[in-house]
Amino acid sequence: RFITLEGGEGVGKSTNLAMVCEFLEARGVEVIKTREPGGTSRSEAIRHLLLDPSEEEPLCDDAELLLVFAARAQHLDRKIRPALARGAWVVCDRFTDATFAYQGGGRGIDASRIERLETFVQQGLQPDLTLLLDMPVDAAQQRVIQRGIERDRFEREHAAFFDAVRHAYLKRASEAPDRFVIIDASRALADVQADIRNCLDTRLAS
Ligand code: C5P
Repeated sequence: RFITLEGGEGVGKSTNLAMVCEFLEARGVEVIKTREPGGTSRSEAIRHLLLDPSEEEPLCDDAELLLVFAARAQHLDRKIRPALARGAWVVCDRFTDATFAYQGGGRGIDASRIERLETFVQQGLQPDLTLLLDMPVDAAQQRVIQRGIERDRFEREHAAFFDAVRHAYLKRASEAPDRFVIIDASRALADVQADIRNCLDTRLAS
């Protein structure tokens, strides 16, 4: 099965991703932990290009979108599909919902154009479960500042960008309510994790 974790900056995605993997491994499941953009060496090279903050030649929005999907095509072919085919569980930090959120909501690319690439690259493959860690942008930003890491993205983009990202995520979730579980990430970590464990228990039972 294919599980993805989504959410904006500072919502606790990495901590909860590690927890999800440990939880599944403890139940004897083979888990492949991976991330997007990235997950294979060539896809990680594309990630490097995508995240390069160089002002000299900014990436245009369409190039950013196509690179995200190029990295995804490689990741699917080399890692995700083979793992799913042999019965492993793939747990991925971000997937196509992040493209609808960042390139769609954040950059303003039309969802219909992203949908065309989604169909082209995924050929019907969708995650079985997507955990969306959701919280207000200013509270998430406070967390990031307190931890003193990952600040550059917040420094480069405006708050409106992250608001648009959040709302695009929520819209996407409302369009696929069977796949998405929205987790209120503004609560204490123990409560967030208890929710996620419950959700995984239900899925493992089915
Ligand atoms: O998830 P992670 O924090 O590793 O993502 C790295 C950066 O890539 C983040 O700043 C995120 O905003 C950005 N990103 C993006 N478009 C995507 C996926 C991630 O701009 N489709």
